[in-house]
Amino acid sequence: MTTSNRSGGAVWVIAEQIDCRLLSVSTQLIGQARKLADELHTSVGAVLLGNDIKNRSQELIAAGADRVFLGNAPELAFYHPEIYTDIIVNLAQAHKPEIILIGSTATGRELAPLVAARLKTGLTAHCIDLVLDENRNLEQRIPAYGGLLSIICPRRRPQMATVAKGVFAAPEPDETRCGEIVEIDAPNRGSDRIEILEIVREEPEGVPLESAAIVVAGGAGAGDLEGWKQIADLAKSLNAALGSTRPAVDEGWTELATMIGQSGKMVSPRLYIGVGLSGEQQHLVGVVDAKVMVAINSDDKSPVFDQVDYGIVDDCRAFVPVLIQKIKAYQEKKVTC
Ligand SMILES: Cc1cc2nc3c(=O)[nH]c(=O)nc-3n(C[C@H](O)[C@H](O)[C@H](O)COP(=O)(O)OP(=O)(O)OC[C@H]3O[C@@H](n4cnc5c(N)ncnc54)[C@H](O)[C@@H]3O)c2cc1C
Repeated sequence: MTTSNRSGGAVWVIAEQIDCRLLSVSTQLIGQARKLADELHTSVGAVLLGNDIKNRSQELIAAGADRVFLGNAPELAFYHPEIYTDIIVNLAQAHKPEIILIGSTATGRELAPLVAARLKTGLTAHCIDLVLDENRNLEQRIPAYGGLLSIICPRRRPQMATVAKGVFAAPEPDETRCGEIVEIDAPNRGSDRIEILEIVREEPEGVPLESAAIVVAGGAGAGDLEGWKQIADLAKSLNAALGSTRPAVDEGWTELATMIGQSGKMVSPRLYIGVGLSGEQQHLVGVVDAKVMVAINSDDKSPVFDQVDYGIVDDCRAFVPVLIQKIKAYQEKKVTC
């Protein structure tokens, strides 16, 4: 395929890299941008900023981009809110994309509203689907009120949305695709209000949620930190990743990085065990294609039981310690056999 010459505002993805490696959410978004662009008879653009990242442009083209705006300079090596916003806003004002998609990453969650505010347009955060409506507006779908809410931005352009990793599947790369790489300069900023002194990497603890085969997620029903520790022990005993709902994070029992759902992470384990949680859509939308789902809840009428394969009605504070004992006994028996 060659570069598209089709007219009309393009569909853009603000791609992201860390340590010169593209994040998977960026190629996933290119895949979805391609579908939207084909329906709109327009092209796919990607903006990629960093240092020593020239080779990454071809990956974006192989995923479906027609044109990559590449900022490749030492000043762009690390995300800088003011510089990155300036570049993207300038590019958007010059090229007038119809749609801009950004990954719902730590960077994207900050960058997207900065860009939207400067472009005086709307932004829908944490979308779980993106389609076109009958007027070719971008229908940005989020879970709300027990269903899906469609948001459109009919009067302002570009239409902007953030989407988490795992919402869209990555397209099969096509290494034969050709595209245009447009090199852009880093802006010469005089008085920056932000200076990056050091990058401190947090070492992830335990099994990473997004790739875990087993996920144990705890909710408000844990009751307190003691109850939460039992749920964390259950995860450990199964060599599972520990996930959470919003209230568990708000209570300070766990880090935001463990939250699953619309504003958290997407998981697709073989086994998901939800403990002391009600199965609200904003949480369960983050559990994609789990093979088997189990819930432990003390309320036999909890809506979570409508969403899972196996339900256990019990007080988790009584049930979980017994379950851990049984798991350990089973594991020891297996080793001695
Ligand atoms: C825009 C928006 C985005 C959101 N994004 C997210 C998100 O990404 N992730 C997320 O998780 N939430 C999110 N939320 C919050 C979400 O709507 C729910 O409020 C949240 O998921 C509920 O968490 P929960 O199930 O732990 O708590 P609750 O709904 O309070 O449920 C607690 C459950 O525990 C049970 N229980 C109580 N005691 C026990 C016990 N001793 N043993 C066993 N069971 C017990 C109860 O019967 C109840 O079913 C979002 C909300 C909004 C508005």
